[in-house]
Amino acid sequence: MERQGNIQISSENMMPIIKKWLYSEKDIFLREIVANASDAITKFKKLADLGEAAAEEKYRITVRTDSKAGTLTVEDNGIGMTEEEVEKYITQIAFSGAADFVDKYEKAGGDGIIGHFGLGFYSAYMVSDNIEIFTKSYREGAEAVHWASDGNSTYTIGPCDKAERGTKVVMHIAKGESEFLREVEIRRLLAKYCSFMPYEIYLNPKGKDTDKPVNTTEPLYLKQPKECTEEEYKTFYRETFNDFNEPLFWIHLNMDYPFRVKGILYFPKVKKQVELERGEVKLYCNQVYIADNIKEVIPEFLMLLNGVIDCPDIPLNVSRSFLQNDKQVQKIASHITKKVADKLAELFRKDREKYESCWNDISTFVKFGCIKEEDFYKKVKDIIIFRNLAGEYRPLESFFGEEVSDDDAKEGKEPQAVYYVSDENKQAQYIKMFKDAGLDAIVCDTFIDPHFISYIEYKVPKRVRFLRIDADVAGALKEADGGEDKDLVDLFTKALDGMTVKVKTEKFKNTAVPAVINVSEFMRRMNEMHSFYQMGESPEDLTLVVNAACPAVMALKEADEEAAKLGAVQIYYLALMNFRQLTAEETENFADGYGKILLKYLKEGK
Ligand code: ADP
Repeated sequence: MERQGNIQISSENMMPIIKKWLYSEKDIFLREIVANASDAITKFKKLADLGEAAAEEKYRITVRTDSKAGTLTVEDNGIGMTEEEVEKYITQIAFSGAADFVDKYEKAGGDGIIGHFGLGFYSAYMVSDNIEIFTKSYREGAEAVHWASDGNSTYTIGPCDKAERGTKVVMHIAKGESEFLREVEIRRLLAKYCSFMPYEIYLNPKGKDTDKPVNTTEPLYLKQPKECTEEEYKTFYRETFNDFNEPLFWIHLNMDYPFRVKGILYFPKVKKQVELERGEVKLYCNQVYIADNIKEVIPEFLMLLNGVIDCPDIPLNVSRSFLQNDKQVQKIASHITKKVADKLAELFRKDREKYESCWNDISTFVKFGCIKEEDFYKKVKDIIIFRNLAGEYRPLESFFGEEVSDDDAKEGKEPQAVYYVSDENKQAQYIKMFKDAGLDAIVCDTFIDPHFISYIEYKVPKRVRFLRIDADVAGALKEADGGEDKDLVDLFTKALDGMTVKVKTEKFKNTAVPAVINVSEFMRRMNEMHSFYQMGESPEDLTLVVNAACPAVMALKEADEEAAKLGAVQIYYLALMNFRQLTAEETENFADGYGKILLKYLKEGK
């Protein structure tokens, strides 16, 4: 006989609260219900293993959508429940569990509980008007039980007809939630939340041999690394991330003690170098999907990778801020960081060629990781490489100098200057001059490099300072201290009157280049920072370094005033052109000057 009962805790107020908080993620109810089904099978399996029940041939979860009846059903052949158990577990535990969850959620002050874990059975009321349970316990002679409630304060319970052991949860989907009656939508949600659950899940099976489960019950990451083939890793990657590009390499995490972490992290090929491309690291707990990119558990920089991580030991029904300070979670995070660093170091040592060929794709990740995580920097600092002007990759450290002592520093000694190129095309002339002079530079042309070199200067301030290749041209390229040619300085200063550029002279080994622009490293970085923070830029701080060893320059001194002026201005524009793009006005002036010189040259027939 059916009887009615009152739910002990005051559940009338819970639903609006739950709905308000969980609205955007209400589809997690399906994960909760299917996870319960999966737990029920695990419980039964354990009993069967202990010989307390006859084992089942095939454990399975069946999900059915019925748009006519307006129901979504999840059925398992797990342990089932007796009437007392339904009273206890559903009417009391599930409802008080939800109340407890609401309480925690409220205390967390909206900072949230990851993946809304812990809401359980009750979460199905987010999308249902009414829920029925048909269940039959594994116990001998147990009677099947029917339970129904609209999720508020009353429920009915009584016997029913159900032949097979297990539980069937029938959700009467609420009016505005009809998307949960669509097979495609349910398929999508099962793929999102239940892909790796340990028992086969069938969606609207036809009862034929052609029925296929929607999940993989033994995801690759659970296997021992030595049992996995390269092809399996690649297939798992493709299927999990829908990325048809092959991953560069991967790291299989497999640890049981002192905590359990299993998973695979993949290094994807970078699509563009202009920004940090977010990857996707999916967090699982015992094969149940929790959420993506949980920065409280997985170090932020690792989220540039793609991966799955299963951490059964993480307490998930706590607030994010609690997780952040949890010692166990911190240990897990640092273990993952260490594994990643170890893998990179191993590749560097064992397969340098591959390491170098992947470097373009992984360098952003490594540099970002260093900036974000001191521990990571310490572990990988020796394997950070840069390409030099000869096209060879060398460890960054090999460019550093001896440490400058405090005494030497007081006397003005500076740490080793490492020159860098930020754009090989734009700085081609400087590169050529450096090469001709037998000088080297490193190529720092990704968007993260400016941040990274500042970070290195901060970490090893006594051994290195970085100068862009156009920052100290005079210092780097001068042949010897030739002193200043005052006449030349005057000539150029006069010719360039009204233009914001300083003039100095130097004698370069390379006699073919009349002049180069030099830009203050400090001012340029300031400007870059200002423009990054949109604070407005100050004018360029440029110096024209005139090459007193260049015959064309020296010829200016012999020329008449007008020609000398014209020549000096043209030399300035040429140098400027090798430094940056000319403005419209500069281009026009340059073309004008060029026309005049050409005409004179042709007229004189020389
Ligand atoms: P939790 O799963 O976190 O304990 P739930 O609210 O989801 O909380 O479920 C409450 C209890 O109801 C479960 O612990 C379990 O004992 C019981 N239960 C729920 N679904 C099933 C099921 N499909 N089969 C058997 N027992 C179930």
